[in-house]
Amino acid sequence: MSSSFLRAQVDIDLDAIRHNLTLLGARAPGAEVMAVVKADAYGHGALPVARAAVEAGASWLGTCSLGEALALREAGITTRLFSWLDTPEVDFAPGIEAGIDLGVSSPGELRRIADATGPGTRARVHLKIDTGLSRNGCPPAEWAGLVKAAAAEPRVEVVAVWSHLACADEPGHPSIDLQAKRFADAYDVARAAGLDPIRHLANSAALLTRPDLHFDVVRPGIAMYGLNPVPKPEDLRPAMTFRSAVALVKRVPAGESVSYGHTWTASRDTTLALVPAGYADGVPRALSGRMDVFLGGRRRPVAGRVCMDQLVVDCGDDAPAVGDEVVLFGAGTHGEPTAREWADKLGTIDYEIVTSMYRPRVRRRYL
Ligand code: PLP
Repeated sequence: MSSSFLRAQVDIDLDAIRHNLTLLGARAPGAEVMAVVKADAYGHGALPVARAAVEAGASWLGTCSLGEALALREAGITTRLFSWLDTPEVDFAPGIEAGIDLGVSSPGELRRIADATGPGTRARVHLKIDTGLSRNGCPPAEWAGLVKAAAAEPRVEVVAVWSHLACADEPGHPSIDLQAKRFADAYDVARAAGLDPIRHLANSAALLTRPDLHFDVVRPGIAMYGLNPVPKPEDLRPAMTFRSAVALVKRVPAGESVSYGHTWTASRDTTLALVPAGYADGVPRALSGRMDVFLGGRRRPVAGRVCMDQLVVDCGDDAPAVGDEVVLFGAGTHGEPTAREWADKLGTIDYEIVTSMYRPRVRRRYL
């Protein structure tokens, strides 16, 4: 297939995102869905993904920073927004004015939020109990104090008690039940203090494997982008395809070496295809010598090192044309490499691969 572009491009299949969210919603029929669109929707583009998620039934959108949530609000997203992690100097006032729900992990944070409310306004807060991930969240020993302070603070409305799981992607891991128990205890403390909060705990993995932990709202991220965090198969469709196109084709004789360091040498006369995508575009240099691309209907090895702006594909006796499409990673349905394959080779997770695709030089196209 010929293509009209010659540099790196990320295609985002919004239909796939809608499909995945519809599936996830059906798996948690008693809960509302909060689509997690932090980090520019895991590299997929926060605003288009937020719109697609709402179309597919999400009634909440979750971001990490207040800035991310405000950007969505300012772009016209009216859906309920929840942001949960900010730096101590952030000004909460614009977020409260914009009706954004805020995560609270400590009495100090609660006070700062309360102090940022305007006259006659109440900030909507979600109290986070640290049930065992030991990142943000209030430690169980301090929970009763936080709940008491929140219950006594007229400038805030306690919407939810929430937490986050450490090992949900390892179904059966003992920490899941331990965290669930601490979560139940924390909820009981809130109820005993006269609060009537909703609860949310489940990320994608817990949504898919622990219906008992769905509670009122589920917070899927990675599965919404079509990447399955759990070992059992699910009908999820990866939404991101990373493409480029052949920019130059040349024939070289056996014995010719390729790219910096000459780590690869042609063992026979061969055709090389130059692809104008390198590590500045999101192709990790650490994949040099161990990655394939999909070109001309089949996988072909990358020859030598991935450079900043380009890489070279060994095509043997085939002769691709300038402009031919090259898939660096995609859904895998035609045999092309996937983000998971890259992650496995790099000793990381597919979350990191897709999230790192937010790059100024890489064009994004929405399908
Ligand atoms: N909830 C919180 C608080 C998160 O930080 C994240 C992502 O890290 C999610 C939900 C979504 O998790 P996942 O992408 O594993 O579904």
